[in-house]
Amino acid sequence: MSDEKIPLAGVIGSPVAHSRSPQLHRHWLTSLGLQGFYVPMDVAPDNLERVLRTLPDAGFVGCNITIPHKEAVMRIADKITDRATLIGAANTLIFRPDGTIIADNTDGYGFIENLKQGAPDWVPNAGPCVVMGAGGAARAVIAALADAGVEEILLTNRTRMRAEKLKEEFGKRISVADWVQAGNLIEEAATVVNTTSLGMVGKPELRAPLDGLRPGTVVTDIVYTPLQTRLLKEAEEAGCTVVDGLGMLLHQAVPGFERWFGVRPEVDAAARAAALR
Ligand code: NAP
Repeated sequence: MSDEKIPLAGVIGSPVAHSRSPQLHRHWLTSLGLQGFYVPMDVAPDNLERVLRTLPDAGFVGCNITIPHKEAVMRIADKITDRATLIGAANTLIFRPDGTIIADNTDGYGFIENLKQGAPDWVPNAGPCVVMGAGGAARAVIAALADAGVEEILLTNRTRMRAEKLKEEFGKRISVADWVQAGNLIEEAATVVNTTSLGMVGKPELRAPLDGLRPGTVVTDIVYTPLQTRLLKEAEEAGCTVVDGLGMLLHQAVPGFERWFGVRPEVDAAARAAALR
């Protein structure tokens, strides 16, 4: 009998039952013929540190982190990658053999890889990029856009102060506009990104006027329930190139899976179908 350990990973959140990550990782493990397990773990905030310190001893090689723990894990991890520091939150943990915890953030990577896969002709500096929303996901999106070479980001958020704060942190390439200006900004945009929760099942609809959308504009929504939001529907009707948000979820999972299980998985139709199952 081999004494080789079977690697374990999972996703920690609270609640966590809605997470699509277990179906996705299990699909990759099975289709790649790998040994390993990936499980959902519902952990209350008060128990987070204790659970994280125990998991390596139980055979875990790492885990994903979701709401509400993405910021709290930054205070627990022993080492934090530069991109997680920049974003101020982590979604992927790697446990070293000695039990130390590395915190990384792959949301921005997932966002940009999805954009490139869904809009292969996308050019970062073709013109201004409008970003709606200044919450946690917006930080990852803005960091990734800047890193990809977008020179002008027009940022608008219901709470203007939050957008101003992001401008302070990310610098001159960001201009902040009032939320009521969202429709006007779109007219000038080469790329439009919704990072708000508007349009998501159970949330209000995005009400910004969308008649400024032009053919050729690349439009993406990071909301993926439903897959086709009002923004994406109207963008498609206007002849824009549209990219839905599910791919961001799939791509952000790739670096963690590769570190934990040793093989880089594909984001393809089968992976999409698995996450939607
Ligand atoms: P968050 O930190 O709570 O930020 C929410 C954002 O939505 C803020 O900009 C907020 O504006 C705005 N908003 C909420 N209600 C609004 C309303 N009624 N009118 C105008 N603006 C409103 O959330 P988050 O973590 O950034 O997540 C945002 C969305 O992205 C969620 O739907 C989440 O599921 C999705 N997401 C998807 C992926 C993916 O992989 N595809 C990854 C991460 C997140 P204020 O600042 O004014 O409150």
